[in-house]
Parts: sequence; C-alpha cells; structure tokens
Amino acid sequence: MRRRPLVVFLLLTAASLAASEDSGKRWWSHVEYLASDQLEGRLTGSVGHRKAAEYVAEQFKKDGLVPAGALGYIQPVRFYSRTIVEKNSSLELIQNGHAEALQLAEEVILSARIRPARTLSPSLAFVGYGLTVPEYRYDDLKGLDLRGKVAVYLYGGPSTIPGALRAHYSSLEERWKSLKRAGAVGVLAISDPHHMDIPWDRLMVLRTQPAMTLADPKLEETPGEQFAAFFNPTHAEKLFAGTEHSFSELVALADSGKPLPTFPLAVSLSAKVAFEEKSVVSQNLVGILRGTDPKLKSEYVVLSAHLDHLGVGEPIQGDRIYNGAMDNAAGVATILDVAAMLHESNAKHRRSILFVSFTGEEKGLLGSRYFVAHPTVPLRSMVGNLNVDMFLPIIPLKILTVLGLNDSSLGPMLRSVVEPLGVTIQEDPEPARNLFIRSDQYNFIRAGIPAIYFKVGAAPGSPEAAIGKRWLTDHYHAPSDDTHQPVDFGAAAKYNQVVLHLIQAMADQPAAPTWSQDSFFRRYAKAEPKALSAP
Ligand SMILES: [Zn+2]
Repeated sequence: MRRRPLVVFLLLTAASLAASEDSGKRWWSHVEYLASDQLEGRLTGSVGHRKAAEYVAEQFKKDGLVPAGALGYIQPVRFYSRTIVEKNSSLELIQNGHAEALQLAEEVILSARIRPARTLSPSLAFVGYGLTVPEYRYDDLKGLDLRGKVAVYLYGGPSTIPGALRAHYSSLEERWKSLKRAGAVGVLAISDPHHMDIPWDRLMVLRTQPAMTLADPKLEETPGEQFAAFFNPTHAEKLFAGTEHSFSELVALADSGKPLPTFPLAVSLSAKVAFEEKSVVSQNLVGILRGTDPKLKSEYVVLSAHLDHLGVGEPIQGDRIYNGAMDNAAGVATILDVAAMLHESNAKHRRSILFVSFTGEEKGLLGSRYFVAHPTVPLRSMVGNLNVDMFLPIIPLKILTVLGLNDSSLGPMLRSVVEPLGVTIQEDPEPARNLFIRSDQYNFIRAGIPAIYFKVGAAPGSPEAAIGKRWLTDHYHAPSDDTHQPVDFGAAAKYNQVVLHLIQAMADQPAAPTWSQDSFFRRYAKAEPKALSAP
C-alpha cells in the first residue's frame, strides 16, 4: 500500500505562495530521488551513496557553486568497515567458576565500531553513568581502579548537570578518555529502558549493519578500546546477581536524575569476538557561493547536511532498503533548495556560503570529523555552521526545537528570523536524547566554530509531540522512513525559508557569529586551530 503524502500549504501572499510552492515541489523532488530504492539507502562507501553524491554535485553545478572539494566538489574519505561474525563469536558470564552463555542479539549486541580483541576475559565494574564532568566536580570514576576491566554503565546522567555538558561528556571520545585513564579495556552499555529511541527488537535488526571508523589513525576516537557491547535492559538484572544492587533500583535512580552507586560486579566476562574488516571510500561534497564584500568574502558560513544513511539491511515487513527519506535526504534537499533559491534570486551577501554534504554521519559523525581535520578551506575562515539533519516536517511548523540556542549569537539571530514567520522557539525538551552531540554540527563546535541545529518541534505532552515520539519508535532508522510516509509540505517549505533567511543573515552581518560568554563550548574557540583536540 502506498499512501500519498499529505499536502498542507502555507497561507502566504500570492507571490511568495508561488515561490514557496515551487520550493516545496523542488525540495520534494530531491527527496524522491535521494530516497528512492534505486540509491539503496546511501550507505557510506556504497554505489548508492556515490550515485547520490553525483546527483548533489550536479545540483551544486546547476546552482552556480564553485567546486571546493579535493576532486571537483568531492572530498574522498577513507574508512574501515567492520561487521561482527556472530556465528564464530561467543560471550559468557562467569560467576563462582560457573559459566552461563549469553544469547547474542537477544541479550547482548557486540559492537564493531572498534577493532575488538579476538578473546578477552575481563572482570566487570559498574561505573554508574560512567561520566566525569570536571566543571561540576562530578566523577563517577572517582577512586575506581578499572585496570583490565570492562566498565558497565547506564546511559543518562544526574539532573544537576546541564544537558549540553552531559551530552558532551557522554560522547564516545570524552567518555572513553576518562575510562581509559582509569584503566578500562572496554565498555558494556545499558540503555535506560524508559529512554530508548529505538526499541531492542529493532536494535537487533540493526546490529548486522557494518560499523565504520576513519582510516586516518590520528582521528581514532577510542584508542585502546578492545571490547564494546550493548546489553538488553530487559535481561540486565543478571549482570547484578550477587551484588547488593538490582538493575531496577538503578533505573529508578536514573529516572529521577539521581547519582548512581559504583561497585564491582560479581560476574565476569569471557568473550570471543570474530569480525570481518574491509576498507571503503566515500564522498563529502563541498561547494562555494562567493560573497561580494572584498574582505568578508574570504570568510565562510557553512550550511551542511549528511547524505549517507543505512543502506540495505535486515528486512522489516519485507522491505530491506533503509531509504532514509527524513534521515537525511530531506536535509540534503533543503540545502539544495536553499542553493537554488539563492541562485534564482541572485541575492548578494558579504561572506561566502559553503555548502557541504557529509558522508559517514550514521557511522559516528565521521565525514564531518574528517572534514574539520582536513578542511578544504582554511579552518579559521569558517565562522559559523548551520546543520540540517532529520528536521521532521511531519507536523505543522509552529515551534522550532533548537540545539545550541544559548551558546552563541546564532540563537538571537534565529529568533529574529523566525518571529516574522509566526514561529516560536524552544530549547530541547528532551536533553536525555543528547541530540546536541548527535549530528555533524558537533564537529564544528569542537573545532571552535559556533553552530546551531534546529528541527520542527512540539510542546511537551502535546498530540504533536506524541506524533514525533511514534515516528521515532516506528520509522527512525527503519525501512519505512521512505517517501510513502505522510509529509507536511507546508512545514518543509517554511523550514527551508528559515534556513535560507538564517544563512543569509549569517553571511551578511558585519560581525561574525560569536560564542556566548557563559557557553561551555566557547573554550574550543580559544584553543589553537587544531581540530578535535581536547581543551
Ligand atoms: Zn540517522
């Protein structure tokens, strides 16, 4: 059954209605191609992604962008791609000399985002949230000796620590820095069952996807990590057998934002991990729309979106192609639509606008990590980033949820752009989802560049919020995120207008965007122009 997308148009003046209708149609035509079965879900390193990249390059050319990759618009990026060979792998829990085999997939999912040790028999320590946040003198690892151990942690954090900071220290790289310092050799992560974007049965389906890392050894995120796995919260009670704590007690503490105890587990692990590895190449794309100010045109404001998605995988309801229409064909279509609108209107702006399409986002923001470490324009000439990822135009656009709203001058700038459109702004009502570190803007932020990211939002508890939640459960990273789902074209067209006006404002303001005095992330701006280094 194919449903026709639900069309909702904006009430605008006749002229802008026509323009907006054109923009909405053009936006959707990009989505239709990029999310078509023909491109097979645009997996990083795949033929489908390469075809999508060729399409983006063609559009860049049509819109008069100057090629700014390494080969025309393209910046090639090399990756290692790994998959776990489950039939040759095993995991056992050992307690008092007694071994219990764990069921791979149902109880535990092995991760290949690291190059795992083939065999390992570590003891286990529960490290709470596994967080070290020096600014708040908060340290789950205080006094723990994790030498040779695998750290078991629960996703989340104490409510006393602001969302962005918590998100930052929960990132793979930051969390691993402190765990490694304490001696850990690996991690076993457990989700809070009440805060899972994707239910376990779908995680099981997704586990066969290849994991990837950048081939550039300087860009390794978790050096020395030998084991990584996720434990199904439904079965997690068995990890705590023989201790004074139960998993349900720990979840209750986490749900109320309280600190967690840390303690050694009575069970240890015996792991045999088999995996396959190959190397693949994929594409970032970079194009420039030149500014007109003699001085400011050598500065860039960056408009970015990731092109990659999950490719072909385990079927759900007979469908194997993970089309990624909302995630993130829609976002790439937005930057293409904005490029076309700028081209058509022949608008002048002082700074140059850099259009970037990233690969490897789904594999851990890897294309943007590579780009910021190997920028094709000088890193310090990029003065701000607006990133578009999964903005979800499935409900009317009345509210924008903004990540990084108070961190830089981009927040107030966005406010002045949306007010005339009758759109209000809210901060992230669900900081537990860590959205701030979950897309490519994060690599710009870490390189000291003010960035902002926003999506169609809803008031907490409203029917619209429920639609968003249901979308995550049913469609997020599922084959049904395709072009047959209901889309609110009015919301998409309005969103694209907001992006257009904000990027123009960023390009035209006399002063470059600045970090807020009290933003945690401001410290990266003062660091030497060395990408991805710790402050
Ligand atoms: Zn995604």
